Formats: sequence, C-alpha cells, structure tokens
Amino acid sequence: MHAVRAPQAFDGERFLPDGATVLVDGDRIAAVEPFGHELPHDVVVEEHSGTVLPGLVDCHTHLVADSTVGGLERAGAMSEADVAAVVLTSLRRHVAAGVTTVRDLGDVAYRTLALRELPGLPRVVAAGPPVTTPDGHCHFLGGAVPSTQDADLRSAVDERVERGVDVIKVMASGGFATPDSDQLGVQFTAPQLSVLVDRGHRAGLPVVAHAHSLAAMQQAEAAGVDGIEHFTGLSLDLTPRLDDRLLAEVARRGTFVDLTMGNDRSLHALMPAPPPHLASLMAGFGATSFDDLYAARLVHLAQLREHGVRVVTGVDSGMAPPKQHGNVWRVVLEMLEAGYDTASALAAATSVAASACCLDGTTGRLAPGLAADVLVVDGDLRSRPEALGRPRRVLVRGRPADAPQPA
Ligand SMILES: [Zn+2]
Repeated sequence: MHAVRAPQAFDGERFLPDGATVLVDGDRIAAVEPFGHELPHDVVVEEHSGTVLPGLVDCHTHLVADSTVGGLERAGAMSEADVAAVVLTSLRRHVAAGVTTVRDLGDVAYRTLALRELPGLPRVVAAGPPVTTPDGHCHFLGGAVPSTQDADLRSAVDERVERGVDVIKVMASGGFATPDSDQLGVQFTAPQLSVLVDRGHRAGLPVVAHAHSLAAMQQAEAAGVDGIEHFTGLSLDLTPRLDDRLLAEVARRGTFVDLTMGNDRSLHALMPAPPPHLASLMAGFGATSFDDLYAARLVHLAQLREHGVRVVTGVDSGMAPPKQHGNVWRVVLEMLEAGYDTASALAAATSVAASACCLDGTTGRLAPGLAADVLVVDGDLRSRPEALGRPRRVLVRGRPADAPQPA
C-alpha cells in the first residue's frame, strides 16, 4: 500500500475541502482521506504541494497519427511495426501530460486494440476504423462499407463487435482530412444511420458520430447516438450555427458533445495554408486565420454551457501539428474561457469523460475501488488553473507513468 497526498484535491466532481490522501493498493484506490490523515507506519507516503485529481481523459484521439500534416492518411499505408511504434509514442505523450485514458476514434486495421492496457500507459477505449461510406471521410483507414445496403451496414458493425471494439464510430458527415467528402451535408441517409446505431446498441456498445454539418448533427441526434464529435454546425450557406432546438434535445437526452478543441495555438504557424475547401468554410465562420476560428468555437462552447449540454474533453489529437497528444488540459482552460467554473471544466475531463467512455465504475474519480489513475499538478487549480499543464506525478492503474517523470 502507498499513498499520494496533496493539500488541494479535486475528486472528479468537486474540490474537497481538506485536500486528500489517496491510498493506493495495487492498481486500485483503497481509500480517499483528508490531507492530514494519519497513516500506519508501513504505508509509503508521497507528499506533494499542489492539487491531486483523477487522471485526465482525451475522448477523441488518433493514436496511429503523429500530429504531422497528413499523418493519419500515411498511417493507412504503414507497416504493422511502424504503426505500433507511433501508437506507443502517442500514448507516452498523453501520459506525460496527465492523461490516463484515451478514446481512440479511428485507427487502421484495429491496431490499437492489442495495446489497450499497457503498463504505465493510458487505457485505450478503441473504435477501430470508423464506419464510413464507400470513398467517404477517412476511407483510407479501411472502414468504408462496400455499399449502404442495410445488410452491409449491419455487417460493418458486426465485424467491429467480433473484433472486440469498445465503441462504434460513424462518420455522419464528411471531414477536412478527406477533401472530396461532403463536410456540409450527410454521408448516410437517416434510415441508414439508424441501422448502424441500432446495431451497435443491440451489441451493447455506445455509438458516436463524427458530424461537422448541422444536418449530420441533427440526423445523429435523431438516430439516438450516444455522442457527437466536432459538433461544428456547418450549413449549406457556409454559416455555422448551433440550432437551439437541437441543443435543447441534445441536453434533454444527455448526448455527450465533444467540440474537439484544445489546439496548441503556438503551433498554428506549422499548419499549411488552408486548402480552398477549408478556406471557404473558415470564411463562413468569419475567420481568416485558425485563431479566428478558435474564437468562433469558444462562442459555441458557451452556448453548450448555457443549454446544459454534457460536454466532454477531446482534442482529435494526432490529426495536425496544433493537435498534439497530451493537449487535453488545454480544453479545460478553454472551457474556463467560455464561462465554465473550474470544477465543471475539470469534471468534463474526468468523471463526465469517463461516463462518455462507459467507464463510470472504473476511472474518472478519486474514490475507493476505482483504478488508481492519479494526477498531481503543481499548484492550486482553483486559483491557477494553468497548473493543469504542469503534471508533477502521474499514476496509471497504480503504476508510475511510462514517461519521463518531472524532476
Ligand atoms: Zn477524429
């Protein structure tokens, strides 16, 4: 048994008034006591200044992609060994930044499934290759259905279930990594999307939809998905908007929404000039730069907060230079900028994100019986939230992170 203690503590839902001493027994949390709690002499105690909290969750990563331009597309043509090496590097970057769980929403050839619980590295909730239309968004990952006949849609889901995925990811609209895809419209009809969602649910799996267009967001919500990724609100006139009726329905059903923000804006300069298809969309946002786009997205985030939508933290990490593995703490700071209080923003990255990943009883909180996924950061997060980007100690299932520990 050992213990990690800090004078400030966030338990996944709220700040604890007396800090915390987290007792770790093997891979689990045995107890959570106040900071000053007296411990038996045989317990090894690590005492930190700062805040102890549950490890963070990135709800949208691509472990096979290395955050270079075109990295995800290249992964589709890489050898098994090369892909595994990229996945390991991605996982190490996540854990070094305090991330103890990632949800991988698009790999190649189910390669992340064998790497889901490596010692000292984040647990992976894996989707395998996303289900997409023939030649649709991210078809190069190998997840395109041969046709949109019901039988082919059902067998696409069945194949993933047989492979043992944890979640079904469906590309409801096109996306920017696939210039020819339809980012403003939908990829499947409403009945086709329902076939996919119902088949996933029948197998007991959650289904999340990638949706940039308002039409795809509405379609996904009506089909009963568990989560919507990106939630960009693009429409045919290129003006993004989040429809109030949709927001009310998303809030009512408790659909998890992930805006996939958290860019390292200092790396925007590494992005190539937006290709024409993206430039026209940015113009729709009134944006001429990636920084303008960020400001527009913050307004959306504030709208989600006002409607009481269950927002979770995802980055789409791996997709581009600003989307580094380990950026999830940046999403928390963006939520604060959009008006969230510190506890709600941290909950979005811990307990709420764990719920989105169907890991309620497993991680996301400091509570007895849960996995000892523990993060200590250097400061009081209530007064200095940016300390979240400075991890002092990371435990994954009770073990030190497989990453250089800060001195
Ligand atoms: Zn993605």
